[in-house]
Amino acid sequence: MIRKIDIHLHPKNDDPGLEKYLKVMDKHNVEAGLVHGLDDAGWDCGFKDTTSNDEVVRAVKNHPGRFFGTVCVNFGLGVEKTVDSIREYSDKGCMGIKLFPNSGFDPNDDKFEPIWQELEKRKMLVFSHCGWLATNDKNPSMRLASLDGASPFHFEVPARRHPKVKFIFAHFGGGATYLETIVLTSRLPNAFADTCPGWGRWVFENDMPGLKSMPREKLLYGTDNASENYGIDEIWWTNKLMSYGFTQRDIHIYFYENSAKILGLVP
Ligand SMILES: [Zn+2]
Repeated sequence: MIRKIDIHLHPKNDDPGLEKYLKVMDKHNVEAGLVHGLDDAGWDCGFKDTTSNDEVVRAVKNHPGRFFGTVCVNFGLGVEKTVDSIREYSDKGCMGIKLFPNSGFDPNDDKFEPIWQELEKRKMLVFSHCGWLATNDKNPSMRLASLDGASPFHFEVPARRHPKVKFIFAHFGGGATYLETIVLTSRLPNAFADTCPGWGRWVFENDMPGLKSMPREKLLYGTDNASENYGIDEIWWTNKLMSYGFTQRDIHIYFYENSAKILGLVP
């Protein structure tokens, strides 16, 4: 089995420290994972867990070198609170922030500049959910269900101003906005994207225009906890990317090396 790093994992209610998950990773040759907290605002999809940032810290502390973590912050709570959380969780071992701009803020807004400065100072990365969400049945008018600032172009200004901060667009930047991912990853050295389902896989399933020009050193393997599906996932992605002209070496950098560099496991 191919060596893999999963750049997109979350703690689960029935496995908060990801102890069980680590065994699944061992079985499928997933050497490391970047674990992300979930949004406290609680988009009602059954993932709500107000302590998830602490669970991220627990996984990282218990398994150094295997789990790396980001703290989920909500810019909507204001610059001061956000910077406070970043400092607190950076000191606890988180290497980046997880964003969910669907909760109603625009990362491109100039007022957030002190946040990016703090991240640059602490050499932290940015990992953002991108793309449309299924509507919230209980409250269809909730802004959480909209696209809002959750697409790559909403990160262009901070990404230009802070070239040392790495920006990773989850779900390949979203289905309707995946071209923004191709533009930014082609032009900005600090822009990356994962292929996490649904939209991240969907764009490849549908062979959307432009995907062949995606810079291969910017493409990251992420799954939202593939669990026992890692085996079939590996076969599917290998076949798909080979049909795009990827070599064995390109397959290796997608599954492993691009993320290993971001996590600091290789130079
Ligand atoms: Zn996720």
